[in-house]
Amino acid sequence: MGNLNLVKEMPKKLGFGCMRLPIRDGKSECIDLEQFKRMADAYLEKGFVYFDTAYPYHNEKSEEAVKKCVVERYDRDKFLLADKMPVWLVKEEKDYQPIFERQLERCGVEYFDFYLLHALDAGRVKELDATNGWAFAKRVKEEGKVRNIGFSFHDSAEVLEDILKNHPEMDFVQLQINYYDWESNNVQSRKCYEVAEKYHMPVIVMEPIKGGTLANVIGEPANLLRSLDDKASFASYAIRFAASLPNVMVVLSGMSNEEQLLDNLSYMEDFKPLSEVEKKTIEQVCEELSKLIRIECTKCRYCVEGCPMHIEIPELFGLYNLAMQFGVTDSMKGNYNWNTSRGGKASTCIKCGKCEQHCPQHLTIRELLETVAETFEK
Ligand code: SF4
Ligand code: SF4
Repeated sequence: MGNLNLVKEMPKKLGFGCMRLPIRDGKSECIDLEQFKRMADAYLEKGFVYFDTAYPYHNEKSEEAVKKCVVERYDRDKFLLADKMPVWLVKEEKDYQPIFERQLERCGVEYFDFYLLHALDAGRVKELDATNGWAFAKRVKEEGKVRNIGFSFHDSAEVLEDILKNHPEMDFVQLQINYYDWESNNVQSRKCYEVAEKYHMPVIVMEPIKGGTLANVIGEPANLLRSLDDKASFASYAIRFAASLPNVMVVLSGMSNEEQLLDNLSYMEDFKPLSEVEKKTIEQVCEELSKLIRIECTKCRYCVEGCPMHIEIPELFGLYNLAMQFGVTDSMKGNYNWNTSRGGKASTCIKCGKCEQHCPQHLTIRELLETVAETFEK
C-alpha cells in the first residue's frame, strides 16, 4: 500500500526534471553546468526540493550534472533526489547491484530519497519477475540506501492495477498525466490515476506538458486559454492541471532554460489549484483539439504487420494529427525522424495496398501517407 503521507510532506509540488537540462552546442551530453547551477539555486531558494534524474538522461551525463550542480553545493537534507533503475540493461539478477552502486557514485550520494524501476510496461514486468527486480528494490530500501521505492509506468490502467495488486511494497508511482491525454485510450491518464488512487498511491506526474506540446497551443484552443488570462503561459495551465489532482505529490517539469524555470516557479511557488472556470475552459480546449484530428486511426495496428516497407503507420498518423493541432514544430519533426529511423518514411510506401485490406476504419492509408510525407519530409 502506498504512503499518502508523502503527498502531505512534499513542501511544493513542482519537481525539477533533469532530462532536458540546458545544453551547449546542441549536444545532449554537453550540459550547461553554470546555467543549471543558477537554475538549481533559484529553484531551491524558493523552497522547492525535488530533483529527478535517471541513468540514460543526457547520454548518461544527467546524474553527474546533478552531483556537480546540486549535491556538491548543498547539504544532503536540503533537497530530495530521485533516480531510476534502467531495467532494460539488466539481463540477470546480479546486474542490479553494480548499476545501482554506479548511480550512487555518479550522483555523489549515499542514498536516494526516491528510487524507481524505470519505464515499466507489461513486458518489463515479466523481465523484472524473471530477474527478481522487485526483491532488489525492497532490499535497497531495507538497507537504507533508498527511502521510498516506486516505478514509472507506460501502459494501460489494467496492467497498472495488476502491478499494484501484486506489489504492495511499492510506496509511489510515476504516471504520464496531462490534460490532452486525460481521456485518451492510448495513454489512459485518468484511468491510471484512478487506479493509483484506489491503491492509495502517491502519484508523481511526468510529461505534464506532453513533451512541450501543450506549451505551443495555437488557433482556437490558444484563444480560449488567452481569454482566461492573457499573461499566463500555456504551460502554466498544463502544469497546474496535473498539480490540482489531490493525490499528486509532485509534477515534474523538464526545464531547459532560466526563462522556463522562472515561469514555472511563478505559479508553483504559491500554488493554486485550477478554478472551476479554468477547468471548464481546459475541457473546451480539449474539445477544440479533438475537432482538429484529421485521421481517425484507432492505433489497432492491424495494418502494420503486412507492410513490406515496415512503415509505422499508426505512429505517423498520430504525429500528423498532433501537427494539425499544434503546428509542425522542430520537436515533432525530430519525433518523425526517430519513428522512421526504425521503420520506413511515409514516402517509401510502394502503394501495394496490403494495409488497407486490414484497416477496420477503412482509411485510405496510401493517400494519407502522401499527405504525411508532404507535412514532415519537405
Ligand atoms: S500500401 Fe504502403 S503502407 Fe500500405 S502495406 Fe503497402 S507499402 Fe505499406
Ligand atoms: S489498421 Fe487503420 S485504424 Fe488500425 S492502426 Fe492501421 S491505420 Fe490505424
